[in-house]
Formats: sequence, C-alpha cells, structure tokens
Amino acid sequence: MKKLNSHEKKAVEGIRFDCVEKCVKCCEIPGQVFVVHKDIPAMAGFFNMSADQFIEEKLAEIRHGLYTLDMPDEEPCVYLEDGGCSIYPARPLQCRTFPFWPENMASLKEWRKVVRLCPGIGRGRMYSVDEITDIVAKSSILSVPFIMKNE
Ligand code: SF4
Ligand code: SF4
Repeated sequence: MKKLNSHEKKAVEGIRFDCVEKCVKCCEIPGQVFVVHKDIPAMAGFFNMSADQFIEEKLAEIRHGLYTLDMPDEEPCVYLEDGGCSIYPARPLQCRTFPFWPENMASLKEWRKVVRLCPGIGRGRMYSVDEITDIVAKSSILSVPFIMKNE
C-alpha cells in the first residue's frame, strides 16, 4: 500500500483550503461550467437581468434545472479575465465547491492531481471532514453530466 505523505496524513482531520486571489488555474481548464437552478437568482442579479432573461441569453439547458454557461466546450470559461473571475460573487456552485468535487475526492490518485493544480490547498482555514462531506454532497448533483460527458 502506498504511504501517505505528511500533507495527506494531516488531511485525515481535515483539509486546509483558501482560494488564492487572482489564481485562475481551475478556470483555465477547458470544459463546461454547469449552472444549477439555485445559482440563477444570484447570477441573474449580477447582470441585472430577470431569471428568464439570464437563462435565455447566457445559458444552455441540458435538462430541467440544469444548465451550462453558453460558451464553446473546449475553451476556458467565458467569465475568466486577466484579474480572475469577472462574476466571482455570483459564481455558480461548481466553482464555489472546487476542489471538493466527488471526482476529485474519489481516490488518492485523483486528489493528488488536484493538489498539484490548486495552490489554495494546504493553506487557509481547516475544513473538517464533515464540512467537506457536505460540500461533496452538494456538488455531487453536477457529477452525473460530467461523467456522461467524459465517457
Ligand atoms: S486552482 Fe485553487 S486557488 Fe486557484 S482559483 Fe482554483 S480553487 Fe482557487
Ligand atoms: S465562473 Fe468564474 S470561477 Fe467559475 S470557471 Fe468561470 S471564471 Fe472560473
């Protein structure tokens, strides 16, 4: 069995995480950004739009209550700017729950990939195992389309 490094041993109690200001490493990864129904009021408000107008103009519907940002699949996020996310206060669940996504927490191998990508892991406040479990559960509704898209 592979031994845990010191960072991973500490992770048994929880994981420190604090998003690094102006870091855009996860936003630069090409792919879809999913938006769930609960994201829409804040996002629409950010653009001073009604929910219906926002859905019509900014989203593409996958199925009832689940959308993606309307942008090309293979490009970085359309809201990514030099200084970071241009809609940061209203960013959707997918972005707010990174790096604690089910697919990232599914194995040590996957988690190590995320640790290499994200400089926010290992700094900032400690997220308890319960908190992380809660975040993973919240973001798990996004895993089904993600897995289907990548099969
Ligand atoms: S890679 Fe990590 S630190 Fe960088 S923007 Fe994404 S969550 Fe924040
Ligand atoms: S909405 Fe913002 S946080 Fe989410 S991927 Fe786009 S730029 Fe990054």
